[in-house]
Amino acid sequence: MAELLYLSDSYQKECDAKITAVLDGGKVALDRTIFFPAGGGVPNDTGKIICGDKEYSIANVRKEGGEVVHYIANADANLSAGLSVHCVLDWERRYHLMRSHTAAHTLAAILYREDMVLITGNQIEMDKIRFDFNLAQFDAEFLKSRIERANAAMKEGHAVKISSMKREDAFKIPEIVKLASALPPAIDVLRIVEIEGVDIQADGGCHVANTSEVGEIEFVKAENKGKENRRVYFRLKN
Ligand SMILES: [Zn+2]
Repeated sequence: MAELLYLSDSYQKECDAKITAVLDGGKVALDRTIFFPAGGGVPNDTGKIICGDKEYSIANVRKEGGEVVHYIANADANLSAGLSVHCVLDWERRYHLMRSHTAAHTLAAILYREDMVLITGNQIEMDKIRFDFNLAQFDAEFLKSRIERANAAMKEGHAVKISSMKREDAFKIPEIVKLASALPPAIDVLRIVEIEGVDIQADGGCHVANTSEVGEIEFVKAENKGKENRRVYFRLKN
């Protein structure tokens, strides 16, 4: 299993690594990686690995069989285990996704704290963010007001802190317990993402260091997906 550098430093844009395996001709595993594999409603990173004088572009990154697998768009026979490579992240895409992810946690926290609304599904994309939740009564004005509260909270400049916590200690924090059913039972130590004064969650994704980096989010549209099944789309303003 690769060392997952993005877990401790989401701002690391480049790293050196070694190829540990080449799978199905076009997929590469590394001993360490800065590339986030899709998961938890957050899309994968993209970027490139440089090997000698050749550049290989990474079109997709997935977790497969407990390993982070990098899909190489222009793979060739030169790629082989043991080779040293230099990894370069598509930082513009990653930073946009980090800002979106922290914004999503902030809005989810406000909906939970003020309205007892639990998000049942979420998907971040480059051009929008989707939340699904159960709520009998809702309208666009209600959602816009919560988005404005999230914007006000983010503008206050809350630090986003990464730490680890024993599972038994994490379970004593109510906001983490609300999500506990979604955690894999095998994990004894959880990675905790805390937006100080706003939200605390067990989370494996990349975030900005301070909510002021997000800027603002805006309402896109709301949908009724059936009885008590609501969907809202929002996005970064810029
Ligand atoms: Zn998250």
